[in-house]
Amino acid sequence: MHTDVQEILFTEEEVSAKVRELGEQITRDYQGQNLLVIGILKGAAMFMGDLVKRIGMLVEMDFMAVSSYGKSSESSGVVRIIKDLDKSIEDRHVLIVEDIIDTGLTLHYLKNLLQQRNAASVKVVSLLDKPERRKVEISPDYLGFSVPDHFIVGYGLDFAERYRNLPYIGVLKPEVYQS
Ligand code: 5GP
Repeated sequence: MHTDVQEILFTEEEVSAKVRELGEQITRDYQGQNLLVIGILKGAAMFMGDLVKRIGMLVEMDFMAVSSYGKSSESSGVVRIIKDLDKSIEDRHVLIVEDIIDTGLTLHYLKNLLQQRNAASVKVVSLLDKPERRKVEISPDYLGFSVPDHFIVGYGLDFAERYRNLPYIGVLKPEVYQS
């Protein structure tokens, strides 16, 4: 375990088993449909890559990048699009892939935006959820794990661009982000 990590919440094996389960569920639910999977960069990149390999049919992939925490740890509610989708999503079945839902503000904004673009359907799969911190009422259609109100890193999630490549999901020591 990295010295900046206080506790491992989910090991690489546990994450992999959960991703497989989510992939199977999504495969069943979207049978016969032409699914467009949209990964939200950068936090969901690793989850997205592993998840689509567990979906047992051909899907299309696209990515969006939105402004997130940077070095501080408070969501402002203002979402800035840094990279938009490549193509129109009109009449498409869309699945947003998120790393973690915290206040819910980012996802609330993104879901509305994609619905306004006349997608046939917009659903959400999130690897993690911190329900205690919610400011707007929103929940994912598919969820990996609920986590307590700590700062989480690993498996794509960063603090100041570090820790993304840890293979497990863990809690960052408070002294690291408070210093
Ligand atoms: P929300 O808009 O729901 O408050 O924030 C969602 C985004 O904040 C996530 O996509 C993620 O980028 C970031 N975030 C929220 N909680 C955590 C956390 O515990 N660890 C990390 N690394 N990012 C978080």
